Amino acid sequence: MSYKLKDLLQEASKRPHALGHFNFSTLGILRAIVQACGELKSPVFVGTSEGEAKYMGYRQATALVEAFREETGLPIYINADHHKTFESAKAAIDAGYDSVQIDETALSLEENIGVSKKVVEYAKGVNPDISVEGGLGYIRGSSELHKEKIEVRPEDMTTPDEAKRFVEETGVDRLAIVFGNIHGVSAAGNPRLDIDRLKEIHAAIPDVPLTLHGGSGISDEDIKAALSHGMSNIHVNTEIRAAYTDALRAGLDEDKEQTTPYKYLNSADEVAQRIVEGKLKLFGAVDLV
Ligand SMILES: [Zn+2]
Repeated sequence: MSYKLKDLLQEASKRPHALGHFNFSTLGILRAIVQACGELKSPVFVGTSEGEAKYMGYRQATALVEAFREETGLPIYINADHHKTFESAKAAIDAGYDSVQIDETALSLEENIGVSKKVVEYAKGVNPDISVEGGLGYIRGSSELHKEKIEVRPEDMTTPDEAKRFVEETGVDRLAIVFGNIHGVSAAGNPRLDIDRLKEIHAAIPDVPLTLHGGSGISDEDIKAALSHGMSNIHVNTEIRAAYTDALRAGLDEDKEQTTPYKYLNSADEVAQRIVEGKLKLFGAVDLV
């Protein structure tokens, strides 16, 4: 089996497993993800949002990923997560990202198609192996813990007809869709996934790998039901952020004299690693390399 990103995504979309997509904004979290993948033999997507990339540095993020890839031999690919402008997508491509997600879902369909197509053309001109993800539908919430209940409205969801048109007109490699998913974890429980809607979208664009954003807080049962219908990668950010921050805070409280960063960061990194391991198992993304 090839470990090229496109092949991994195609393979995952045809089979009942999905790659994990985990965000990072520190070296320790990136290393935690890589260690989990090494133990479970998992190919993986790591991602930086615009904010995370700004903190890490685009070039610094790709250099770290390249270093881990070289050292471990694991297929680790870096994605520019939710990049909202052509310019920010271009910055990631120019810095050597393996993949970009152009997210113009807040715009009209026509405008979304226009910008996404432009990013596809630019990316392919730089390197045809760069994978570009487009998005359709409105994902409510943000990558944090929500006290309130979040409802997904019918008009938020991706429709099969628009998905087909969008993919044909933009040439994106994969598509982020909305079928009940939100960003973040709601204390009142996250909405259920609409698996029938997922099946309809997959039937309309059977050869396009699909992406599930907002993998935090979805029941294991719903995740498993989604895996067989074109799902190629599942994003998890909030669960890692929340557990990492809790562990860090607890560690600092426990030993108030400790001033050595790598000592108090280590235990939080380990907590992040355990979460990534659990998700990789749930997504069936183990023993693949
Ligand atoms: Zn997302």
